[in-house]
Amino acid sequence: MALQVYNTLTRRKETFEPVNPPKVGIYCCGPTVYMPSHVGHMVGPVIFDVIKRYLQYLGYDVTLVINITDVEDKLIRAAAERGIAVKELAEEITEDYLENLRKLHVDTIDFMPRATENIDAIIKLVQGLIERGYAYQANGDVYFDVTRFPQYGKLSHRDPAALEAGARIEPSPLKRHPADFALWKAAKPGEPAWDSPWGKGRPGWHIECSAMSMRYLGETFDIHGGGLDLVFPHHENEIAQSEAYTGKPFVKYWLHNGLLRLAEATRKLGARADREGVEYLDEQQALKMSKSKGNIVIVSELLKEVPAEALRFFILSTHYRRPIEFSLERVKEVERGLNSFYRFFERYQRITAESFYDIQPPQRRSDEFSTEPDTEFLGEVEGLRRRFFEAMDDDFNTAAAIGVLYDLLSALNRYADRNRLEGEGKGNREKVEAFKKGACVLRELSHVLGLFLEPPRRDASTSELTEKLIKILVDLRAQARSEKNYALADEIRRRLGELGIVLEDRPGGTVWRFAERP
Ligand SMILES: [Zn+2]
Repeated sequence: MALQVYNTLTRRKETFEPVNPPKVGIYCCGPTVYMPSHVGHMVGPVIFDVIKRYLQYLGYDVTLVINITDVEDKLIRAAAERGIAVKELAEEITEDYLENLRKLHVDTIDFMPRATENIDAIIKLVQGLIERGYAYQANGDVYFDVTRFPQYGKLSHRDPAALEAGARIEPSPLKRHPADFALWKAAKPGEPAWDSPWGKGRPGWHIECSAMSMRYLGETFDIHGGGLDLVFPHHENEIAQSEAYTGKPFVKYWLHNGLLRLAEATRKLGARADREGVEYLDEQQALKMSKSKGNIVIVSELLKEVPAEALRFFILSTHYRRPIEFSLERVKEVERGLNSFYRFFERYQRITAESFYDIQPPQRRSDEFSTEPDTEFLGEVEGLRRRFFEAMDDDFNTAAAIGVLYDLLSALNRYADRNRLEGEGKGNREKVEAFKKGACVLRELSHVLGLFLEPPRRDASTSELTEKLIKILVDLRAQARSEKNYALADEIRRRLGELGIVLEDRPGGTVWRFAERP
């Protein structure tokens, strides 16, 4: 089955066919940088990072753009509250955002344009819209005239006539129609401002995304993403501006990710419901929570409690269009699941004397299984690999794909148990080879999801020195045991256990690991 994607524009799943194959352009709306990233800010980048990885794996040449809104009302207010310059706050928050993306291994973004670095392109667009009769000036502001664009409402499936009642429409006496929106805003005292044909001012929020996506991806491109809350008015407005300006279709596929919801236990702060009745955590709540004791939705705080890979795994464990039920407990649950993979990687190393992380996975999908499935085990692996593709081809269903990774993990562990690959079966080259081929598929599929790219840092406080000291104690314990001094050996194990270090005696010697977090 070819790749199917759900398109908000048509409200159905469609076969994915890029505008100019093999090229694929993806634009995803990034944050307004006025508060530290909360978990919801990471959902779009993680899912689009995976979408890009998968499309590349299918052989496409993908460009991914995520913008940074560094001038906007909320940002101006937040900077004023703190008594610092807008630019200073924007830089501080952008740094936090980028740092979180790095930790989560969102590393396939090609361009991250800032609104303030694209003012010329924005002015050109606004001017073009005025010339074509789609926009008008009023006291230094410029508004888009929605009545001139009959298709307005086609993405959000709203009737333009009913838009007057829209709750999220900014009121202004200067507008001709209540749904008209600002392309350019006249400067107020103390605000950042740029020269323009309409006097000093700054861009409205929506226009920057049209200007920056067209700059990097052309006038018509393949995929536009963002949170579900952006469908209206933001994306509706992007379509109107862009298509009015170019006279061409703006975007072929609109993909919207579900929003973050607080799971029951955490919901006491009260999630807000939007007009469709969808509950989600909005930024003001996140901000409130960051100031209260439950500051755990702030990513930099959360990553002190759980490894970044657990957060990535957590985000991918829900299909991107569904709301993500968040609580610290849930992320920790996912972390325990991750640990079962890490333990398998250690087992892989004991069996093969090679690191799982050194396996070179195929970079491109081939429908042929890379090995002859001549054993029942490899036949099972091939079946799981096919199921993984079916899940990803079904509108990037990463939740089902992760389910397949777990099944593959179980199959590998069962095979190693059955053939005693850590015991007397260790010398059975044929079995070990089949095991390695199975593990290579696990590496291949997890790579597509951007998982297990590097060994987990065992703990922030674990330095190389700590590891060496533990090794000394493990060696001393082995010596005590060989001298039949079991009391001392047990004492060493007990006291390491108190520090959360677990020793496991295995045929090839003792291995250690940190106990799972409670
Ligand atoms: Zn946008």
